Amino acid sequence: MEVLAHAKLNLTLDVLGKRPDGYHDLRMIMQSVALADALTLKENGSGEVRVSTNLHFLPNNEKNLAAQAALRWWEARGQTPRGLDITIEKRVPVCAGMAGGSSDAAAVLRALNRAEGEPLSPPDLAKIGERVGSDVPYCVIGGTALAEGRGEVLTPLPSLPRCWVVLCKPEFSISTPALFAKIDSVRLRCRPDTQGAVAALGAGDLAGVARRMYNVFEDALPERQHARVNDLKNVLIQCGALGASMSGTGPTAFGLFDDESCAQQARERLSDFGGEVFLTYTV
Ligand code: ATP
Repeated sequence: MEVLAHAKLNLTLDVLGKRPDGYHDLRMIMQSVALADALTLKENGSGEVRVSTNLHFLPNNEKNLAAQAALRWWEARGQTPRGLDITIEKRVPVCAGMAGGSSDAAAVLRALNRAEGEPLSPPDLAKIGERVGSDVPYCVIGGTALAEGRGEVLTPLPSLPRCWVVLCKPEFSISTPALFAKIDSVRLRCRPDTQGAVAALGAGDLAGVARRMYNVFEDALPERQHARVNDLKNVLIQCGALGASMSGTGPTAFGLFDDESCAQQARERLSDFGGEVFLTYTV
């Protein structure tokens, strides 16, 4: 079986507060893009899940989120693991705030469900995915959605009007736990207008959504990284992006474009900054 695992972007990301269980309550508008990992699944009859990828540093055992998803699937179905070889061609940058690993996990759940004749609905699959990671439920469903709670409480939203997306993952990475720890002590300069963005989605107003994009984690970034993300956003806006923001806990910066030649120009200019640069579109 072959399946694609699409990357996600956060059109908005707000942290509402810390919960008694230590997690944070989030409110974010998620959006899938065409950029995707390509997975191939083959039953191997060994009872083991083996993963191979084109990135040597990723785990090839049950630490890989794709393998965890398969194990959770068999557990939820009350079946003994039959064993699986999973090959992942990683195209989505790793540790980028684009849910690459969660999306691989969601793709495995969708593929195993399909192989058995779709016995589970997407919300049931999302429930299994929740045990692998907070972003997995959204990745099962994809498209444009509001994610609340830890990210697992999902409300589908009207699709963002199709547009070009240019994104840049700088060469450094950000520690997600460190950023969550820091966000409680940071004075947030600004919050995203989530309600306004939802209304703009309802009206099919791409520019209205793009204008309201914001991610509160930008304020919690270490100074040098913050400056770098700002530089990337400025280039995107100078090139004609309707809006620019950071995805997840970063450091990927992205911009939305309604004009392909502007998007191409942005991709070229960002290539001079180093890191991984992609021109893709929303799905
Ligand atoms: P999020 O947006 O959900 O915070 P991310 O984009 O920041 O995710 P990922 O690339 O999904 O980060 O995952 C990074 C971590 O997960 C790495 O430490 C990596 O070793 C581990 N990992 C496990 N399985 C995978 C996978 N299939 N693909 C990518 N990373 C994986």
